Amino acid sequence: MTDYRDMWQDLGMDLETHDLLCAALPQSFGDIYLTQENRPEGMAFYDFVVSEIHGIRPAELVKLKEDGGKVFGTFCVFVPDEVVVACGGAVTGLCGGSQFWVPEGEKVLPSGMCPLIKASLGAHFGKTCPYFSVSDVYVGETTCDGKKKAYEILGADKQTYLMDMPQMKRPQDYEKWTGGISAFARMVQEVTGVELTAEKLGDAIHLINEKRQALARVHAARKADPLPISGKDVLLMTQIAFFDDPARCAQMANALADELEARIERGEGVFPKGTKRILVTGTPLAIPNWKLHHIIETSGAAVVCEEICTGTRYFEHLVDESATTLEGQFQALSDRYMQNNCACFTPNPGRVEDIVRLAREYRADGVIDCNLKFCTLYDVEKSSVAAALEQEGIPCLALETDYADNDSEQLRTRIGAFIEMLG
Ligand code: SF4
Ligand code: SF4
Repeated sequence: MTDYRDMWQDLGMDLETHDLLCAALPQSFGDIYLTQENRPEGMAFYDFVVSEIHGIRPAELVKLKEDGGKVFGTFCVFVPDEVVVACGGAVTGLCGGSQFWVPEGEKVLPSGMCPLIKASLGAHFGKTCPYFSVSDVYVGETTCDGKKKAYEILGADKQTYLMDMPQMKRPQDYEKWTGGISAFARMVQEVTGVELTAEKLGDAIHLINEKRQALARVHAARKADPLPISGKDVLLMTQIAFFDDPARCAQMANALADELEARIERGEGVFPKGTKRILVTGTPLAIPNWKLHHIIETSGAAVVCEEICTGTRYFEHLVDESATTLEGQFQALSDRYMQNNCACFTPNPGRVEDIVRLAREYRADGVIDCNLKFCTLYDVEKSSVAAALEQEGIPCLALETDYADNDSEQLRTRIGAFIEMLG
């Protein structure tokens, strides 16, 4: 394995604490992932990425910076990667998914905040994540209150650009988001020193659409029974898509999809035919948060779909490629991104409709609606999700958790009873 210590040192990281993080990950990844049987060969790429997770991609980003490019760290699927890519920059997702970073985050934030926000700030201030360290600019967004206020704290330490998200979906809100994307493009041009043209943006829109289509192919393979791939493996592929190079991401996902489609033709699966099928909805599952999927898939069921931002919301809906002016392209980007039904919108009937539609498409036997503790937005929507699913006759289990492992056995008991009840 390559030694990246010099790079981490140059990035100003806390090497001693970072060593502790690096020591813990292989064990948990091995226990959760490498114990699975008959995994698709295409997962070898993603296993390799995890084995070098703080080395190989950060090294590519360092090289991009040496060649004059800029790195934009993002925290939400509303940020249009296309604009950054068109200006020769790279986007890296930064949402923290590990309990390791939470105590550091609690030094600057109240403990009664969602673990995703605490872990993200903990990774920044603890200097233990190269993706934070290598970013030139953070891009925040006004989605939930916790994030809005956290960006003030981050922004005092590193350049942080804030996108003002609409909270409703009226025509003026679409217009507002078009304006927001246009302003974002001005900032990206200033930071990168690259002039954005319709041709460059058109190419980037096409590239990110290809990435979405490739991810969608892998996810669609989960409609089959028997399942050609575990939910855990698809979650890992999706999590890695947030920081990988988009062209390589599309290429590797397409290769994996080819393999899964061949498995479906042969009737080959990783779980026995008829295994209970679960759709997961709720708050995002940022890497390395694999807790929920692992419990479900070691309790006799399989995850077949995630209606979350590290799931369908990341790849559903393509950007219309027909516009030939920047103005038209900003509008097309706005139209696509505003189709995301995050709980930050009010009213938000689209999310419930998505959950019911996806549960049907992926033939889910039940839905697990799992929220991170202290996430008010998704917590409030639990009742409308439960009511809609009850009306459709789809069983639903509502859960709340965080990144710590101390509730794992309790979750296992509740999930096990739910799966049992599915018959
Ligand atoms: S849940 Fe909402 S705020 Fe969080 S990443 Fe998704 S769209 Fe952004
Ligand atoms: S999980 Fe909820 S509280 Fe946490 S960042 Fe996302 S929307 Fe905000």
